[in-house]
Amino acid sequence: LKIHNSNNTNVKFFVSDEMKIEKNAIEQLDQLLKVNESVETLKAYVPDYFSDDAAAMQEVAITPDFHKGSGIPIGTTMFTKGFIIPQAVGNDINCGMRLYTTSLNEDDIRCQRKQIEKEIRHVFFEGGRHIPMTKKHRESILKEGLIGILDTHKSLGDNGLWAFYDAKQQEEDLHKVNRLGSFITEEVVGLESYLGSDDVSYDSQIGSIGGGNHFVEVQKVVNIRNHAIASAWGLKRDQIVVMIHTGSVSIGHHAGLNIREILKSIYPNSLKHPDNGIYVLPHSERSMTEWITTWSLLHNAANFTFANRLFLGLMLNKALRGVVGDFDFKLLYDAPHNFVWQENVDGVEGFIHRKGSCTAKSAEQMANTPFGYTGEPVFIPGSMGAKSYILSGLGNRDSLFSASHGAGRRLSRGNSLKVDDAAFRDFLDNFHVITPIDPNRNDIKSRQDILKKWEDELKKEAPYAYKDINPIIETHEEHGMATVVAEVEPVLTIKG
Ligand code: 5GP
Ligand code: MN
Ligand code: MN
Repeated sequence: LKIHNSNNTNVKFFVSDEMKIEKNAIEQLDQLLKVNESVETLKAYVPDYFSDDAAAMQEVAITPDFHKGSGIPIGTTMFTKGFIIPQAVGNDINCGMRLYTTSLNEDDIRCQRKQIEKEIRHVFFEGGRHIPMTKKHRESILKEGLIGILDTHKSLGDNGLWAFYDAKQQEEDLHKVNRLGSFITEEVVGLESYLGSDDVSYDSQIGSIGGGNHFVEVQKVVNIRNHAIASAWGLKRDQIVVMIHTGSVSIGHHAGLNIREILKSIYPNSLKHPDNGIYVLPHSERSMTEWITTWSLLHNAANFTFANRLFLGLMLNKALRGVVGDFDFKLLYDAPHNFVWQENVDGVEGFIHRKGSCTAKSAEQMANTPFGYTGEPVFIPGSMGAKSYILSGLGNRDSLFSASHGAGRRLSRGNSLKVDDAAFRDFLDNFHVITPIDPNRNDIKSRQDILKKWEDELKKEAPYAYKDINPIIETHEEHGMATVVAEVEPVLTIKG
């Protein structure tokens, strides 16, 4: 454990001795922690913005995949009292991971790979997802997340993807989603065009993977490292599992833009705005209107995102079922790695922010959930050409009960494009990434252009663009943050 002092805050770094900490990420952290000064300035100027005299940054912990992000470094967990920093969540609100176990093994996929790829392409890229909804359904999703869907889906019958939505199963599954997949709020802020009308229409947003590092991946379990927990979670060697990584797409973007305006409006005109561009949202009577609207925006986006991951799961279930027939498809867990939660830490009421960091609570902390004997599941992906890991949280207090959420980039997107083409061909020869159109189709004139554009996007996410995941995983065990349960490898990757 390394301690780095930044603006009078002791930041705990969960890294190993060999790990290089990027200078530009440290610079970003130092900028972020100027927030202490901003709070003091705002407090002095408008004292009643803070109902709590002790309002301050309480603690910061850094996960092993720490690296530069857009504004806020990735791998940062913070505990604040009396205010939140919405930028420490970012625009991709509730970006996170969902994992399903299945009763399939690799042979079930391998022997029908072409058919499966065709079905996946149809459902994910050729408009075959069909999720009919009305304004009322979209409203209940944005206000109440997965509980909202349970309450209102009935009027849609078994149309389109709803045929794969089993309400009884979904009700049980709520307990396998962080905070039941439902951050309840009473209003939908803006989003009129997304909400649409009272007529039934196919939803244009739900079921979106999103670009870049987001994915839906069919994986196989290649190693079990903790047999007791693996057995409790239904994980077996050679088994197929499905990992889903996606965020809030355009809904989060809308929230981010609106929140930014709200934050600026809190500042009196005569007060200099923070140099680092990082604003706080104080928790008090005086800022109550702004506080409520901001949380509604955060919650609308987070609720949408839980539904997004749920429907991506149903889409993959549909595509596989169309080829392999009946099989078990069971949710293990779903949790955000970009969010802010109101929590009590050692008797202090405050807010835990995680930007590119997972919640990794112990069995004891997960009492009265399906994970009360195992600890909270933690999913740490490597890349589309490397292993990913399934771990169980150990509730490390100093890490603010957190773990990494990925390997982290080694090369910028621009530099990934410059890597020798042979390395990319080698990757494509050894792994299966679903092309957006069938490469053998002769009836599409622009086929080559579409595939070329797709390859260029894919290069930015190639395995060589990411760090080695293994030292990151080891560091979690070394520091008692989480313990490895199983290792998985990609079988089929779907990128947005
Ligand atoms: P982020 O949440 O920062 O967007 O991405 C999380 C992590 O996902 C990245 O740091 C990287 O390790 C991992 N990752 C990116 N693309 C893929 C992919 O296609 N498959 C897998 N298994 N992991 C990926
Ligand atoms: Mn994301
Ligand atoms: Mn993410």
